[in-house]
Amino acid sequence: MTQTRSSRSGADFLYQSSVPEDIFTPEDFTDEHKMIAKTAHQFVTKEVEAHRETIENQDFDRVVTLLKKAGELGLLGHSIPEKYGGLGLDKISKGIVGEVVGRTSGYGVAQSNHTCIATLPITHFGSNEQKDKYLPKLASGEYLGAYCLTEPNAGSDALASQTTAVLNSEGTHYILNGTKLYITNAVFSDTFIVYAKIDGKHFSAFIVEKDFPGLSLGPEEKKMGIKGSSTRSVILEDCQVPIDHLLGEVGKGHVIALNVLNLGRFNLGSACTGGAKHALNLALQHTNERKQFGQTIASFTATQEKVAVMMARIYASESLQYRTASLLEEAMKDLYDEEDHRIVGKQMMEYAVECAICKVFGSETLDQVVDESLQLHGGAGFIQEYPIEQMYRDSRINRIFEGTNEVNRLLIPGNLLKKALKGEVALEELVEKAKRELSSKGKDSLTEEDAIRSIRNVFLLCVGVAFEKHGEELMKHQESVIKLANIAIMLYAAESSVLRAVKHTQRDHHIKTALTRTFLEEALLQVEASARKLIMSLLPTREKSEVLNLIIRELSSYDFGSSLERNREIAKHSYNNLKYEV
Ligand SMILES: Cc1cc2nc3c(=O)[nH]c(=O)nc-3n(C[C@H](O)[C@H](O)[C@H](O)COP(=O)(O)OP(=O)(O)OC[C@H]3O[C@@H](n4cnc5c(N)ncnc54)[C@H](O)[C@@H]3O)c2cc1C
Repeated sequence: MTQTRSSRSGADFLYQSSVPEDIFTPEDFTDEHKMIAKTAHQFVTKEVEAHRETIENQDFDRVVTLLKKAGELGLLGHSIPEKYGGLGLDKISKGIVGEVVGRTSGYGVAQSNHTCIATLPITHFGSNEQKDKYLPKLASGEYLGAYCLTEPNAGSDALASQTTAVLNSEGTHYILNGTKLYITNAVFSDTFIVYAKIDGKHFSAFIVEKDFPGLSLGPEEKKMGIKGSSTRSVILEDCQVPIDHLLGEVGKGHVIALNVLNLGRFNLGSACTGGAKHALNLALQHTNERKQFGQTIASFTATQEKVAVMMARIYASESLQYRTASLLEEAMKDLYDEEDHRIVGKQMMEYAVECAICKVFGSETLDQVVDESLQLHGGAGFIQEYPIEQMYRDSRINRIFEGTNEVNRLLIPGNLLKKALKGEVALEELVEKAKRELSSKGKDSLTEEDAIRSIRNVFLLCVGVAFEKHGEELMKHQESVIKLANIAIMLYAAESSVLRAVKHTQRDHHIKTALTRTFLEEALLQVEASARKLIMSLLPTREKSEVLNLIIRELSSYDFGSSLERNREIAKHSYNNLKYEV
């Protein structure tokens, strides 16, 4: 079944295919997108990277100066409507800025945190007065913001907050008490979006200003990486918050906290993709110069294979990021003036699965690429003088914040299961159809698009097996859920890569097809590994081998030509450009 764009809904890639025309790709950038990319790129290379050491040494005054400069350039206001001093650009522009700034890690975290989770709660859930008061200042950088959800006893289980808000006897102020942990930008923030339970029960959001009596900060945390981004606890001791600083409705703080995190996860995926490109570029430049055994490191075919695999993984990450950006834009383009918060929340949640994948795939791509790039630097990679050393330390946090990758993985099959239980998706029919297709022999053609169909069918077959075994209790069996999520992530990444290559058959077709094939080979292996582990753990011996044979036969039937030649070609293309370019 192939669906057109108009009838799409969140996570439907899990059970139906798309057509290439439905996918937005970087090749579709408009002049406006190219312009904001250029502005962001110039700012990062001329202003931010020139101060890398100062920022790494935690000169937060420098970080603030840079944030204000970013504000002057419009780089803080891309997602704020024009009437509130922003640029009111689309989510593709948001992705572009996130990606370009992402390569600066510590500074990038500060800027993205400000524009995304610290500002969006007001943009989408603020009253007109709150928007008038704060958004122009947040867009210009006059005010900088923080987002305060985590607490000592409420991390992944964020709604277990123990921070309380009690209305004072005069009815003029909420009195907040509690501690927020690991808060990015805390040291220089003017506004803090704080979540607290009114009367210990009703989880709600508040805009707290830095000078409100009762707000103080803990000492700067000593971190492994992203040192250029401030992290402190925010302590609220009888903090007096005027009643008109309640954000949204009493008891609806979760609608703000969790939905804003969806966009945060998308943004984090963009930032990680930008970081991965930068790490690859460092590897290309270093290996192209450094000689051993009388030849450059770049000339060794083992290096070339590493470069090809990194390129292909980044290409997949980039493809799924911009595909998701456009889906988010579709869902959210009319939300700036929407006053019904239920509608705002619903639209922001529509692509929660895709946003979770952006976060997981992006952060794991960055970790893989940074690790391999450091390895290609040899001993130099371990020395602080080389920027890859810092990138290695900086990248690790991305698998932890904005919801750990485990928590994000659990969300992916959970979404499908909920839809199935509500009758919105005919899961049983889809599983039966997948089984039939997997059992039918003798396929005429085995294209990249066929491979996507195969991965989807394997996913649905595995969902069917897991559901039959665990029933409605499936979500309690996390070992199975995580493996289903692994397959789903590979499905989205591989499909985004394939559709992008098919869409652009005319332009630079060769390199995109090569990258797609190299990524697909890896995806098919990973899907097979997750599916095998799942089936081995769930089915009795008798049925096990039959189902395993079906899966292995299907996934191993694809042959995209010699990976040896193809990967050397990809490496050649990369060394010609000396940077990620497709
Ligand atoms: C540098 C930095 C900056 C941060 N910035 C902010 C910020 O600005 N604002 C903010 O509010 N927070 C911020 N955080 C907090 C961050 O979002 C949390 O650390 C993160 O959500 C994880 O929570 P936790 O640390 O309590 O880990 P825990 O929840 O204790 O998790 C520990 C481990 O248990 C696993 N786990 C937890 N629950 C489950 C489950 N149900 N099933 C399976 N496994 C599970 C996790 O995946 C993880 O591997 C920041 C953290 C850091 C380190």
